[in-house]
Amino acid sequence: MELLTELDPSVAIRAGTLTLDSRVPGGPIESAWDKTRFEMKLVNPANKRKYTIIVVGSGLAGGSAAATLAELGYNVKCFCFQDSPRRAHSIAAQGGINAAKNYQNDGDSIYRLFYDTVKGGDFRAREANVYRLAQISVNIIDQCVAQGVPFAREYGGTLANRSFGGAQVSRTFYARGQTGQQLLLGAYQALERQVDAGRVAMFPRHEMLDLVVIDGKARGIVTRNLVTGEIDSHVADAVVLGTGGYGNVYFLSTNAKGSNCTAIWRAYKRGAAFGNPCFTQIHPTCIPVSGDYQSKLTLMSESLRNDGRIWVPLEKGDRRKPNDIPEDQRDYYLERRYPSFGNLVPRDVASRNAKAVCDEGRGVGESGLGVYLDFADAIKRLGQKTIEERYGNLFEMYERITGENPYKVPMRIYPAIHYTMGGLWVDYHLMSTIPGLFVIGEANFSDHGANRLGASALMQGLSDGYFIIPYTIGNYLAANKLEKIGPDHEEFRAAQEEVAGRTRRLLDTRGTRTVDSFHRQLGKLIWDYCGMSRTAQGLEYAIGKIRELREEYWRDVKVPGSAKEINQSLEKAGRVADFFELGELMCIDALCRNESCGGHFREEYQTPDGEALRDDEHYSYVAAWQYNGPDAPPLLNKEPLTFNYVHPSQRSYK
Ligand SMILES: Cc1cc2nc3c(=O)[nH]c(=O)nc-3n(C[C@H](O)[C@H](O)[C@H](O)COP(=O)(O)OP(=O)(O)OC[C@H]3O[C@@H](n4cnc5c(N)ncnc54)[C@H](O)[C@@H]3O)c2cc1C
Repeated sequence: MELLTELDPSVAIRAGTLTLDSRVPGGPIESAWDKTRFEMKLVNPANKRKYTIIVVGSGLAGGSAAATLAELGYNVKCFCFQDSPRRAHSIAAQGGINAAKNYQNDGDSIYRLFYDTVKGGDFRAREANVYRLAQISVNIIDQCVAQGVPFAREYGGTLANRSFGGAQVSRTFYARGQTGQQLLLGAYQALERQVDAGRVAMFPRHEMLDLVVIDGKARGIVTRNLVTGEIDSHVADAVVLGTGGYGNVYFLSTNAKGSNCTAIWRAYKRGAAFGNPCFTQIHPTCIPVSGDYQSKLTLMSESLRNDGRIWVPLEKGDRRKPNDIPEDQRDYYLERRYPSFGNLVPRDVASRNAKAVCDEGRGVGESGLGVYLDFADAIKRLGQKTIEERYGNLFEMYERITGENPYKVPMRIYPAIHYTMGGLWVDYHLMSTIPGLFVIGEANFSDHGANRLGASALMQGLSDGYFIIPYTIGNYLAANKLEKIGPDHEEFRAAQEEVAGRTRRLLDTRGTRTVDSFHRQLGKLIWDYCGMSRTAQGLEYAIGKIRELREEYWRDVKVPGSAKEINQSLEKAGRVADFFELGELMCIDALCRNESCGGHFREEYQTPDGEALRDDEHYSYVAAWQYNGPDAPPLLNKEPLTFNYVHPSQRSYK
């Protein structure tokens, strides 16, 4: 095997053994999805009910997939760890969902959305997937409107739009600052309709703790009932993971506290390749960290950058109150550096610039880790009422958390981890490297490359769930003969035993430190060394430290209570154990990518004016990591990326 890096003997990386077939069809990109759908095998309506499909996750991706598959006639078993599908993290999404409807007649098109997304992702996404996403975006809005999702409307009744970063058109559909909630209610109603019809069996408060692979195909999962502690096997003909992102590896993040990587991590350990784990997104507009005891960060939606202006004082260490600093002593640094896109540059660019001005000593707030987001001009121009109508709930949330009134004093914001572009590798059919295991929504790596544009995650989750998986899974089922198996199959029994053993081990350690104290320390390491900027030296240090801390974790973690009751410490303990392993893989991935692209900013690789410097010759690929046993470094497989339509160039928003 070829040795790929020798930076540090402990992370010497060798080439993997997987064949990564992206299954992107040949021919013009515009007709690729139509052609694929036409060529796919169909399952006869009468046969659909003979198949069982497991969908893990009931957020926008999982919920829409489960509802649609059941509507088609399949038997669906849907799992989530919350007490109701309505509590999936998707409900937190605020700002909006993109679609190339061109309702504003401002020059939008499918091609422009495709172009913006490939460029926004810094040329590290698969073109064909992105084109399909842009095509399907228009169907999503129709589907959701038909479900009754109350998108904001213009006075005359047509759907309203606003702008998000990385685009010069207004293509973001929204429902005030609650877009995710309204979309999720739509998907949830569709799902509940199928629960009522008996075609979806819903398993809330169940956590998937292992994937079962038999004869090389995904055939089911092992779950733990979070109320009774019971460990069960569930058999299926195909498994879909829509289990969300892993931003909570950083401990402090804008994700719901329960969001985790366990489902995809356990699938990785069963043979599913993990794509681009180091591609994580730092969102520029979050409420700054306020103290050591904080356990959660709050997002202020990117939509605020439509009307808010970002600035810091011109002079270092200027401690005056914001309203006392005159115009000519303020630096609207995004407007100055990027006159074309101004405050609406993409997230990676806005975040890096915020860090740079704070590193220069011009940050605001007590910690100096903050910049202003100021609505004074917009209020003067549009009136407070309009601003209230657009962002009222976000302003209220800000005031409740900080005690400051953002109508009167500029908001203080700072970047925070928000989204993970990495996830399980999938082909054009959204199938992982394990046949029969499909991955959708934030849990897969696809579509956003090295940086996701705002309002594109909801679009991708719903595109995957409503419009892609229902076709591609049918093709898989029709093309594969699956043996009948039961939950007493030896692979299920072995997986159940493994899950039970791991649970016991966590409880039996009876150490001295809480799960949270370890998680906080792990998160800080990853934030410091694999966060907004990274260096080879820092990453090597972090890898060593993570290993030490993980070893200590298994020696000294304290998990109170038992396995036979509701035990949130136990739930967290399993998730944090997986975060340790994933955190290490993120650092290894970041160390092996000797370039800067999107959210992956390696300080050694930047242009003279501090922008990310890609190395297309050597790194124009998806890194698909392969598990290689508990004591061996992972193996690196590469899916080369080719760009036939949007040609890689230095990304410029100037
Ligand atoms: C504060 C915030 C605001 C956002 N705003 C926007 C926005 O305006 N526009 C936009 O496009 N994107 C936005 N995003 C991103 C977007 O919300 C998410 O990427 C998207 O909702 C993820 O959807 P999902 O269905 O993939 O996962 P989730 O909604 O996270 O759902 C995951 C599901 O998987 C289940 N699950 C997970 N693990 C297991 C397990 N082991 N066993 C059983 N079940 C499991 C959970 O119970 C849940 O049902 C925002 C993100 C945040 C954090």
